[in-house]
Amino acid sequence: MTINVLFAATEARWQDYRAPLTEAFREHDLDVSLKTDLPPEEVDYIVYAPNSAVQDFTPFTRCKAVLNLWAGVEGIVGNETLTMPLARMVDPALTRGMVEWVAGHVLRHHLEIDYFLARQQGEWCPRVPPLASERSVTILGLGELGTACGQTLADLGFPVTGWSRSPKRIEGIATVHGDDGLDAALAQAQILVLLLPKTPETENVLDADALARLPRGAAVINPGRGHLIDDEALLAALDAGTVGHATLDVFREEPLPADHPFWSHERVTVTPHIASETRPASASRVIAENIRRGEEGEPLLHLVDRDRGY
Ligand code: NDP
Repeated sequence: MTINVLFAATEARWQDYRAPLTEAFREHDLDVSLKTDLPPEEVDYIVYAPNSAVQDFTPFTRCKAVLNLWAGVEGIVGNETLTMPLARMVDPALTRGMVEWVAGHVLRHHLEIDYFLARQQGEWCPRVPPLASERSVTILGLGELGTACGQTLADLGFPVTGWSRSPKRIEGIATVHGDDGLDAALAQAQILVLLLPKTPETENVLDADALARLPRGAAVINPGRGHLIDDEALLAALDAGTVGHATLDVFREEPLPADHPFWSHERVTVTPHIASETRPASASRVIAENIRRGEEGEPLLHLVDRDRGY
């Protein structure tokens, strides 16, 4: 029987995803009718982006799962009309993109590239950066993205510490959890990378207290979510020199307002939420695999724990 899949995202996303999804359904031998408009009671699965027009899931009475196109689910996880399973995106290409972005920005700080760029007008100032083995990196969040970034940085030679909610064992990464674990992880973070999801518990994880625990001059890199950082506290720490530089990809308000002090601060780098994106070709295969599983009664991949919020 034909499986009805509703694509509930913007027109631009439809243009990006229509062909790759069709191809992935074909590869998975799925007989799918993929549309942007279907009677709700006939929909079997919803491919979803949080800025979609669909906000009330009540009429989707036979829908077996909502398949989120993004890794972060804060825009949908609290929706009380969503009673069906919710899967988030774990896309191998998105993970690779994040690994490359994080590794690049860590290496920028590690190699002190800004120091040399600032002296390009003729100042010959030899200063040899330490080896990676002498520069400790801490990652807050050891999920799909934090673990992949941590492993790549460990392969480059950095001593990597990672913090998560639950205890973990990951080769090449020193793992800690809980409040004591956070204090220890911050204390050795010469470079700090934030890869936590947006939940009530992670709000302001990097507040004035946490910033004060960092080694003086630490670099902060945030591709996680804007709410993880207390902006005022970060600006104060940058002005005081506690934090040497902040590279920020995500913000409490996006686009970052034109008058926000981050834009003009000499020790802040702003990137416009581009650290990594879901890539249509590989993400479509993940969605097709989940629909195949749903049809064959197998557990879905990457299900969101609604109580934890991620
Ligand atoms: P995962 O759900 O796989 O991992 C989340 C990690 O955070 C887990 O290790 C989890 O711990 C930890 N965590 C959650 N809550 C807490 C807490 N209260 N205390 C300590 N640790 C906590 O997510 P991903 O790795 O796939 O993605 C992480 C985030 O990256 C996304 O939620 C999104 O916000 C952001 N992102 C940003 C992008 C960008 O372009 N800037 C692109 C894609 C994602 P545990 O393992 O114990 O559960």
